[in-house]
Amino acid sequence: MTLPAAIDCDVHPTVPSLAALLPYLPEMWRDTVIRRGFEELNTISYPSVNPLTFRSDWRDATGKAGTSVETLAKQALDPFGSRFAILNCLYGAQALFSEDLGAAFCQAINDWIAREWLDKDDRLRASIIVPTQNPERAVEEIERVAVDRRFVQVLLLVGGEIPLGRRQNWPIYAAAEKHGLPIGIHAGSTYRHPVTPVGWPSYFTEDYVNQAPGFQSQLTSLMSEGVFAKFPDLTVVLMESGVSWLPAYLWRLTKFWKGLRAEIPWVSDPPASIVRDRVRMTLQPFDAPPDDGGIARLMEHMGSDEFLLFSTDYPHWQFDGLAALPAGLDPVLAAKIMAENPLRTYSRLNDMKGAT
Ligand code: ZN
Repeated sequence: MTLPAAIDCDVHPTVPSLAALLPYLPEMWRDTVIRRGFEELNTISYPSVNPLTFRSDWRDATGKAGTSVETLAKQALDPFGSRFAILNCLYGAQALFSEDLGAAFCQAINDWIAREWLDKDDRLRASIIVPTQNPERAVEEIERVAVDRRFVQVLLLVGGEIPLGRRQNWPIYAAAEKHGLPIGIHAGSTYRHPVTPVGWPSYFTEDYVNQAPGFQSQLTSLMSEGVFAKFPDLTVVLMESGVSWLPAYLWRLTKFWKGLRAEIPWVSDPPASIVRDRVRMTLQPFDAPPDDGGIARLMEHMGSDEFLLFSTDYPHWQFDGLAALPAGLDPVLAAKIMAENPLRTYSRLNDMKGAT
């Protein structure tokens, strides 16, 4: 069986330096950034020296990777034969304490992505970066950018100021649903709170492993607060979340829902079935058992072959060579992961009109 062309649902373009964004900032904020002597805003991603941040053979002379569209195409698109790749830019706009400055940087990043990336390779699509410090400003940014149909998703971070299900975030979901944009929740934090539920850790290993419980907390929040009930056409994509925790988490969530459902009557169906219908996960980092039988069992436990979306998580180091897909995957399932599931999830990928 020939596999379809890949649709890579999590690729990271690297902002080469703050200077690259300056031309895209409104004049007032450009002057402010220069006058205040801003340093780089790499606050929501790991530093370049972290081995996971950039795969060693993808690093350039500066020690970074994915800083230009040419390099990204050569390293992330061509080798995997990707038909589309969705760019998720991780830069510190959402971590800034000033709502106005955060909004200005989100606008600059989205415009930089459109001009410097999407205009230069028609295989590229992108997520809209929004200033979650202020949902009103986030909605304004969605409305401003969504007219460009190459933007296919709204990007949120798993670690923010408040749980994502809380009512004050609902305008973001309303705007996303209106424009047919899934909400993509990506690993990363604005560091308003410790990344573990028990306090601040010491090592990157602890930070990274604890992203998964963060995803569980956010999924529980979205479910319990009623986001899935209020926005029936909204899809949520968990990106770089890992996948193997999902079945055990759903067993636990469903168990306690059975006993406590009277307090959240809007969750009228078992949480596992809501998640199966409304939530998707990107593939890398794939943390399933290493043997073929283990992967098959995991898929059985997940209860659906529509959960997973192909991703390389370029340029992060999750695998070597071209081993983005786990070995021994059933070809029919592989085809779904590579293309069918992404095309169902991202309606705008089916839009052949391209940019407006
Ligand atoms: Zn990622």
